[in-house]
Amino acid sequence: MDDKPYLSIVIPLYNEVESIPEMYAQLTGVLEQYGHPYEIIVIDDGSKDGSFDLLKHYHEEDPRFKIIRFRRNFGQTAGFAAGFDLAQGEWVVTMDADLQNDPADIPRLVDKAENEGYDIVSGWRVNRQDTYLSRKLPSKIANRMISDVTGVHLHDYGCSLKVYHRDVVKNINLYGEMHRFIPALASRIGVTVGEEPVNHRARQYGKSKYGISRTVRVFLDLMTVRFLLSFDTRPIHVFGSIGLVTLGLGVFIGLYLTLVKLLFGQNIGDRPLLWLAVLLVIVGIQFISTGLLAEVLARTYYEAQGKTIYVIREVLADPPVVPVAHA
Ligand code: UDP
Ligand code: MG
Repeated sequence: MDDKPYLSIVIPLYNEVESIPEMYAQLTGVLEQYGHPYEIIVIDDGSKDGSFDLLKHYHEEDPRFKIIRFRRNFGQTAGFAAGFDLAQGEWVVTMDADLQNDPADIPRLVDKAENEGYDIVSGWRVNRQDTYLSRKLPSKIANRMISDVTGVHLHDYGCSLKVYHRDVVKNINLYGEMHRFIPALASRIGVTVGEEPVNHRARQYGKSKYGISRTVRVFLDLMTVRFLLSFDTRPIHVFGSIGLVTLGLGVFIGLYLTLVKLLFGQNIGDRPLLWLAVLLVIVGIQFISTGLLAEVLARTYYEAQGKTIYVIREVLADPPVVPVAHA
């Protein structure tokens, strides 16, 4: 029993007291049959309905059932992040506490990752049991957009049931409500992503913690992710190029107006073109300054966290060595 776990199941939970007994029973049943050593990490995200006392009861009976209790409600993403920090398993499985995901799918997903060499296997709720207008339609659009924008094509970003190799979850930082973007964020470190259809069930107890307003937040998060993915190591290339083009155009128009004034003696003070030239020059300089600031920020970001700008899969060297930044 004190084997290092092969599987870590990470489950954020907020006011789901009615679901806990069945969740525990179903999970334990599936995992014991699967036969690999495991741990279940439930993150009580500030529940106020007595969930914690019930979770504690199960923990006292079963040390593989671990609980992290937050001081207040920090959100599902924070729950995942805490679970990832604690997880010891080779594979980390995430899922919901409300029984909408089916624990019976876990062995298949993990086997697929292990046998087919994926770093991430994402559940795909082919038969999703949620309302159409407020859930399935926005999610369909979101999945298309996220896939196109990030270049990581998945049918179901929103499905919580996913399997990650430990290298993935130990190498990403989550903020805001970014958990649905983990496969896209992970593409930064170089990962292979697979998909597997999973069972989805209607919510039996309690109610959903999200409304339609989530769509807006997902959209804003997508912008951030896109930015982080493409620009984070060389922001000046992005801002700088736009800035140079804008500035160049402004200077060019300005020169033209100067010539018109000097050579032909025309009055240029009331020409709209003059305004355009001024605008372009100012905007151009702003873009370039933003790019330079972003360069400073990028350095702070990596150096403050002792991060490297690369992620290594393995090093072949005898005796074993690990590169250390600024060693
Ligand atoms: N959850 C959480 N903190 C929150 C909101 C939700 O830990 O602030 C948990 C919730 O208990 C559930 C999972 O996240 O286990 C998914 O939430 P929900 O079922 O409400 O989302 P939906 O399935 O309706 O999209
Ligand atoms: Mg749910």
